[in-house]
Amino acid sequence: MAVLPIRIMGDPVLHAPAHPVAEITDEIRELVADMFETMDAAPGVGLAAPQVGVALRIYTYTYPDDDGTPWRGVIINPELWMVPLDPGAPDPDDESEGCLSFPGECFALRRSDRVIVTGTDLDGEPVRIEVDGWRARIMQHEFDHLDGILYVDRLDDSDWKTVQKIARKRGWGRPGAAWTPGIDHLDA
Ligand code: ZN
Repeated sequence: MAVLPIRIMGDPVLHAPAHPVAEITDEIRELVADMFETMDAAPGVGLAAPQVGVALRIYTYTYPDDDGTPWRGVIINPELWMVPLDPGAPDPDDESEGCLSFPGECFALRRSDRVIVTGTDLDGEPVRIEVDGWRARIMQHEFDHLDGILYVDRLDDSDWKTVQKIARKRGWGRPGAAWTPGIDHLDA
């Protein structure tokens, strides 16, 4: 197993739709093991395969349950359904999210409060996840990655200008930008 470099905004693999997984091979199982290790090392609550440079429809997720037990797993070839967004502006205290591919920053974004995700697990068995709140947010964020969408792409004009300013300052927004958890230390 290995901690993989995480691509940063601007790398083309993050901005194009990923391909369905045709077959779960040993290579896929190894990729998923590395994704769990990378997600935990970052640390992050989710990681999509394009973030480690692999254009396949796979993501991992983890989030502590109310009693502290981690809720975690992997979804292959997911489909996602969501309830409509509540109208209005997002609350920066309760609705801010971040992304390992735009590290060290967070911005408020309105997300659907409830989703259903279907797909398969690493054994090819069908999976169905129905979640709300933060878990629903994680599912939407990671699913977006598989369609080449970063959460910063969904921000309003004023936040988007801030995003571009930060990217310019840090030399992001170009092919090949990446960081490796445990090796590169990014200032928040
Ligand atoms: Zn992300």
